[in-house]
Amino acid sequence: MVKKIGIIRCNARSENCAGFHCLPAVCKKIGPFQEYEAIELVGFDTCGGCGQGKSEKIVAKAQRLKDKGVEVIHIGNCIINSRPFVESYIKDIKEKANTDIVRGAH
Ligand code: SF4
Repeated sequence: MVKKIGIIRCNARSENCAGFHCLPAVCKKIGPFQEYEAIELVGFDTCGGCGQGKSEKIVAKAQRLKDKGVEVIHIGNCIINSRPFVESYIKDIKEKANTDIVRGAH
């Protein structure tokens, strides 16, 4: 079965990273993507700019991915490893965009 996924990464980090680890991980189905039988990468987006803990922008991005058919969103390592408020983002995305979340994209 093909899983429709989306990736949300750190907007600030996108200044110097174009998905150099997460996109190969999707293509090779390694790391957090190895569990999927087959993958369709529906969207690769940023958080929309640092909300400093306010989740409106990242929830809107998650909703847009959901509207395009995404079944599960992977939150980029660049957010997971560097943003202390990431758990509140994940909680809000799950509640407001009603989307499954995986922490990490490589
Ligand atoms: S998750 Fe890793 S590879 Fe992907 S955009 Fe963030 S820093 Fe770059």
